[in-house]
Amino acid sequence: MLRLIFLGPPGAGKGTQAERLSAIYRTPKISTGDLLRAEVKAQTPLGQQAKVYMDAGELVPDEVLIGMVKSRLQQLPEQGWILDGFPRTLAQAEALEELLRELGQDYDHVLNLEVPDEVVVARLLARGKEQGRSDDADEAVILKRLQVYRQQTAPLIDFYEAKGRLRRINGNQPMEVVQQHLQTLLEGCRRTA
Ligand code: ADP
Repeated sequence: MLRLIFLGPPGAGKGTQAERLSAIYRTPKISTGDLLRAEVKAQTPLGQQAKVYMDAGELVPDEVLIGMVKSRLQQLPEQGWILDGFPRTLAQAEALEELLRELGQDYDHVLNLEVPDEVVVARLLARGKEQGRSDDADEAVILKRLQVYRQQTAPLIDFYEAKGRLRRINGNQPMEVVQQHLQTLLEGCRRTA
């Protein structure tokens, strides 16, 4: 059983790699961006609230995300999970530690996908054209998300490094190569475990 956390800037490839590992290791993926977009599409009150933040490139309030992830983790005791897009703030990371303590669960690794800023901006602009995601269409919103990432999410690298749980992966390589590195890392750790 696998429990993983993906970290990295927007456009680092967290969603793509989380999806691939989810299929290979038959482990449910929890993507907070996808969950929020589904709420927006269904025009739920939560979705209507979240859309304002997402369109501005801001983070949706911590309470909303913590509640969302909590209810899902409570339902997945045996299958494990792959978190994509959560935690994104120190408050979320602390809440996750506490929740996992309550549930008697632990994560195996925190996978940090490293990609330079200019590569991320180019990828997000391309995704905006292909997928019509409104938060990817506007360069100002992309730059805002990067700024939010640096201020609020990047400190999580030190948080998990201090716990000795961080694994760094070069995300500036073809998707297949990144996937291969991730699999090697996961399987190497299993064999020695
Ligand atoms: P990105 O490619 O920017 O990483 P995501 O699909 O993960 O995109 O997230 C899209 C948007 O959803 C974010 O810009 C943010 O507004 C909101 N969001 C997703 N996850 C979280 C979270 N853990 N905390 C707060 N907001 C979040």
